[in-house]
Amino acid sequence: SGNPRVSPDAFVRVRGARENNLRNVDVDVPRDAIVAFTGVSGSGKSSLAFGTIFTEAQRRYLESVAPYARRLIQQGHNPHVESITGLPPAVALQQRRGAPSSRSSVGTVTTLSNSLRMLFSRAGTFPDGFTDRLDSDAFSPNTAAGACPECHGIGVAHTVTEETLVPDPSLSIRDGAIAAWPGAWQAKNLRDITIALGYDVDRPWRELDPADREWLLFTDEQPVMEITPQRDRVAKPYKGMFWSAKKYVFHTLADSNSAKMRERVLQFVRTGVCPLCGGSGLRREALAVTFAGRTIAELNALPMSDLADILRPTTMLTDAAPALPTSSSGERTDVAVAITTDLVARIEVLIDLGLGYLGLGRVTTTLSPGEMQRLRLATQLRSGLFGVVYVLDEPSAGLHPADAEPLLDVLEQLTDAGNSVFVVEHNMDVVRGADWIVDVGPGAGEGGGEVLYSGAVDGLAEVAESVTRPFLFPGADGAASQARALRTPTGWLTLEGASLHNLVDVEASFPLGTFVAVTGVSGSGKSSLVGGVLRDVVRGYLRGDDAADQPDDETTDAAASAETGLTEATLPDGRADIPTVRTVDGLEHIDRLVRVDQKPIGRTPRSNLATYTGLFDAVRAVFAGTDLARERGYTAGRFSFNVAGGRCETCLGEGYVSVELLFLPGSYGKCPTCHGARYNAETLEVTYRGKNIAEVLALTVDEAAGFLEPVPAASRSLRTLRDVGLGYLRLGQPATELSGGEAQRIKLATELQRARRGHTLYLLDEPTTGLHPADVRLLLTQLHALVDTGNTVVVVEHDMDVIASADWVIDLGPAGGNAGGRVVAAGTPEDVAQVAESRTALYLARAIT
Ligand code: ADP
Ligand code: ADP
Ligand code: ZN
Ligand code: ZN
Repeated sequence: SGNPRVSPDAFVRVRGARENNLRNVDVDVPRDAIVAFTGVSGSGKSSLAFGTIFTEAQRRYLESVAPYARRLIQQGHNPHVESITGLPPAVALQQRRGAPSSRSSVGTVTTLSNSLRMLFSRAGTFPDGFTDRLDSDAFSPNTAAGACPECHGIGVAHTVTEETLVPDPSLSIRDGAIAAWPGAWQAKNLRDITIALGYDVDRPWRELDPADREWLLFTDEQPVMEITPQRDRVAKPYKGMFWSAKKYVFHTLADSNSAKMRERVLQFVRTGVCPLCGGSGLRREALAVTFAGRTIAELNALPMSDLADILRPTTMLTDAAPALPTSSSGERTDVAVAITTDLVARIEVLIDLGLGYLGLGRVTTTLSPGEMQRLRLATQLRSGLFGVVYVLDEPSAGLHPADAEPLLDVLEQLTDAGNSVFVVEHNMDVVRGADWIVDVGPGAGEGGGEVLYSGAVDGLAEVAESVTRPFLFPGADGAASQARALRTPTGWLTLEGASLHNLVDVEASFPLGTFVAVTGVSGSGKSSLVGGVLRDVVRGYLRGDDAADQPDDETTDAAASAETGLTEATLPDGRADIPTVRTVDGLEHIDRLVRVDQKPIGRTPRSNLATYTGLFDAVRAVFAGTDLARERGYTAGRFSFNVAGGRCETCLGEGYVSVELLFLPGSYGKCPTCHGARYNAETLEVTYRGKNIAEVLALTVDEAAGFLEPVPAASRSLRTLRDVGLGYLRLGQPATELSGGEAQRIKLATELQRARRGHTLYLLDEPTTGLHPADVRLLLTQLHALVDTGNTVVVVEHDMDVIASADWVIDLGPAGGNAGGRVVAAGTPEDVAQVAESRTALYLARAIT
């Protein structure tokens, strides 16, 4: 083709790919270029890009470094493909959240923290009297040299005060003034020791001498006293050790094996910012050093875009002197220039990727998967690797359309450095900027799995079969959004004085009984408003008295959530930054809250489509009703693979056995006894309309719709699953094999099949992630159906098709972080499209016309 970046002899040639639904695919994909893999959800894009190309590259790599790995890898990591030639080593950047327990931060993932510490160590300004420069480790809370002695670098400390330890100072010690002390005989023991030490245990606490109170509560001393029990004449004298209230509390927290005891003492503890280091986790010496007038802790807390502004003047110094290890400041030296130049260049890449609002100190567990992937992407630019294939999963996820250009620039830098970039992508602006497109389809599951087109992007215009074509070349038939009458709100939910993260005293009104889109660039505050403040307020209300007479309120869903991820009960981190709001109006119009997210519907193969939606209950009942089952006394439980009886005991009904690989996350291989059927042989002898239970689980939703037609409860579920475009999934497809988008639609279908009018508030955070524009259309139909039955849907979105279809748009911004957090525009899509200050307006205007 005419594309100058594509060289004819640099191709990855895939032959006979059969992974998952791929139908013996042959395809040639250029190296040293940006290649976009497109197709509807379930068409097989990931099976080709990740499941085949990346997996094979990784397998070859592992084989070369560790021959014995081969045996292990064959169990689950050997792609179904005849051959692949021209394949360079591959690096996959998939969307994953930071591991929940890790202490990693934006600074550590990008390694910017290392450079910043180096800057402070070698070029910071030290206070007078410092003779030695601190090592760069001394600026890290994660090293022994740097960690604050009080909180051990965590920045959070448990503190106890007289108020927490002695809630009622009118009591005497004998009456239990020191509530934090243990109960029962231990209390009596401590009291006797206190008496032996000469304290008055009968006076009200508040009348005791302040020095005595201080000692009793906080001393580290543990005098041992000879105690003669007073009341109990039979007891022998013994030696007893004193514990101050504080010492007892911290000892229990650190050493007690009893969760109950730890919980009891926790009520006497306040958890908050460490008073010694102010939450930075650093030692005082490190906090005394500054650069450009700020401590490293202050710089870590700033958005990176501000940090770059602070460092930039140093990069432009013209009179930089050679560094002298003895001088108290290195700020005007060539070392400072070199380090800041490197830092600023790297931060600018992150700003280009729409991440400038993040601070270096931000912990990665609070980042979205899309943000995390872009952080890793930026880091790769500096890795100096070349001749590598990067395989990326929707790098545009979470990005405002305004940021699609810079993303492409970054991808181009990777190819310019001699790498190949393969992206599974749904954002047509990114796809248009690619050098090559591989369109997979035409449909999903068995209806897909073929490469419809592989070539320069323009050429797809000729491929009539392609579902992607009308979206890539608008104006072609089929892609125009239908005009629709705007709905009239049935009420308003108004938040005043909403604050969280970068939202400060914001007013926002949500029209109820309508479809509301919350928009704005990445970091503008959308999730903080919707997933934070709004959700918190409504949850709080529904948990209150009003919820008691609502059988279907969120408490029910919250109970289900631990299992399903449909809603989330609590914020995982004990952040001090909690949602607040001054006044709320209109809550009485809402009687239920449901959050539909893309979290997996289960983490083991035990959970699947049929169990999650409840349709499996109906299927099991049908099997229990067959003649053979009755004859043998098999109840519905016999047809469950989760309990002993009917299931295969080798795999305990999983159909798979877990294979632990040394360097790879645990994976699953087929059960050697039942070969994946999950049931024992006797159970499989029972058939309904000629199929045993394992065969029914192997049906796709489409097939089952006919087969289970006589079973009304199952048919209803199956109909909604087909409506949301999941007809291609198999009933027994383990939850571990579902994509985030598929999981989300299963949750929606489960909601829809409840089919009731209501006043439910649905909250969705970027529901279009992972969805092809054609799937977005399906999703929209479903969401609008929910609104048409009286419910309210609030989505955080970047997809202009979705935003244009909304009844109301709330646009936050104007930019990210501290430069955002305001409502820039609110109104109908047409209104918002006119607002000059809104970064969304331009794109929205295009989508409307
Ligand atoms: P896409 O990336 O286009 O959304 P996938 O490649 O993820 O599609 O999936 C293609 C088909 O293979 C779908 O029907 C999907 O349900 C199925 N599938 C995906 N992963 C697995 C797996 N691990 N085992 C079996 N089937 C799978
Ligand atoms: P959006 O959803 O529009 O991308 P967010 O609500 O996620 O924006 O973020 C708004 C601002 O709040 C950003 O500056 C972000 O860095 C900050 N922020 C978001 N979540 C957290 C958190 N858990 N801890 C600290 N800051 C956060
Ligand atoms: Zn501390
Ligand atoms: Zn088995």
